[in-house]
Amino acid sequence: MSTDTSAEIAIFDRRESEARSYCRGMQSVFTKAQGSEMTDADGRSYIDFLAGCSSLNYGHNDPDMKAALMDHIAGDGIAHGLDLHTETKAGFLNAFEEHILKPRDMDHRVMFTGPTGANAVEAAMKIARKVTGRNNIIAFTNGFHGVTLGALSATANGYHRGGAGTTLDGVTRMPFDGYMGSGCDTTKLLEAMLTDGSSGMDAPAAIMLETVQGEGGLNAADPEWIKRVAELAHEHGALLIVDDIQAGCGRTGSFFSFEEMGIMPDIVTMAKSVSGFGLPMALTLVRPEYDIFGPAEHNGTFRGNTHAFVTARVAIEKFWSDDSFQKEIGEKADMLEQSLEQLAQMVPGAFLKGRGMMRGVDVGTGELAEAICGRAFEKGLVIETSGSDDQVVKVLAPLTTPKETFRKGLNILLDAARDVTAQAKFAAE
Ligand SMILES: *Cc1c(COP(=O)(O)O)cnc(C)c1O
Repeated sequence: MSTDTSAEIAIFDRRESEARSYCRGMQSVFTKAQGSEMTDADGRSYIDFLAGCSSLNYGHNDPDMKAALMDHIAGDGIAHGLDLHTETKAGFLNAFEEHILKPRDMDHRVMFTGPTGANAVEAAMKIARKVTGRNNIIAFTNGFHGVTLGALSATANGYHRGGAGTTLDGVTRMPFDGYMGSGCDTTKLLEAMLTDGSSGMDAPAAIMLETVQGEGGLNAADPEWIKRVAELAHEHGALLIVDDIQAGCGRTGSFFSFEEMGIMPDIVTMAKSVSGFGLPMALTLVRPEYDIFGPAEHNGTFRGNTHAFVTARVAIEKFWSDDSFQKEIGEKADMLEQSLEQLAQMVPGAFLKGRGMMRGVDVGTGELAEAICGRAFEKGLVIETSGSDDQVVKVLAPLTTPKETFRKGLNILLDAARDVTAQAKFAAE
């Protein structure tokens, strides 16, 4: 780190709130980014395996999205329009309907919530409660749904919950797939609790899940488990909410993470990569019969990020109008799996997590995972951990990463793991 960089970092230490987080492990000041690479103030370049926590699935500054946005701004296009009809919103909705909803036989209405994932989750939970007249929502161990109070009540992580400063009510936690070990089908417990009038669990308004738990450690539920949960929701008059904020937009291989599982969620939440460009934008997709909020009953000043509509439309038309991108994701997912298997072999007991391009390795302890990520950063790779104890080294590379760059990044990660595990062995001897 140059003295210039240290001087620049001083402002963050002095003035930015202690609530800052990712930046603590990466003591650089970033200036530019293009595709899968970022540059810092010292001119060092990094390969990005964090991708804004899956908000940059199409990489940084995609040239087509950037050009469309620059044209829009240069032509005095609307920058803020509350929820008025705008040309750009129509453009987004048309593209979303044609390329995303229709080919998947989805008739969901698109609700623009406030621009964060948590706000989309708040809307989803409120809709389910209003539709059913019930309060209880079933969420799962290690689930992460955001940190506003409603969403936080569904989030499992004790550290985040501890920040609430008040009671977090109205949610019953059930064990996610694999929580009790691979031999235990946790839908059996869910079924028993739902069926027995003396289980003590109130009838649920909704069952809400991530198909792959992003923050919770890349726990990928078995499609059969998900299907069974969906059946139970419908048998018991509860709405099925899939929180696809992190796993959606191609991250697991298809546009939605639940495709080809034989389920159709009543509500889907989307955010993170939905704008395509890293701009704030969130959606709550809801089956028409449950689209029952009155005008502005759930509202917000920033319910239409017009700039995000411009880039989101380009993202859909560029990447999702045929299946070529999906194939490309599949090929890179195979590369990723092979490299992560090598990494797992370096650490006794380590094992792979996740699905598609949302994968990682559980290395047993947060200490080791953080050491590997820290070493990788020194070698020019931006990468983070996830899981209850931060014990999972998590790869969330942009899905558009060129194979050569991806290989380079994966090699850095393997080198970092080799360095750290060799040191650990040396220390033990
Ligand atoms: C990130 C995330 C959220 C919260 O989104 P914010 O934009 O941070 O509020 C909710 N659910 C899931 C699955 C997420 O990964």
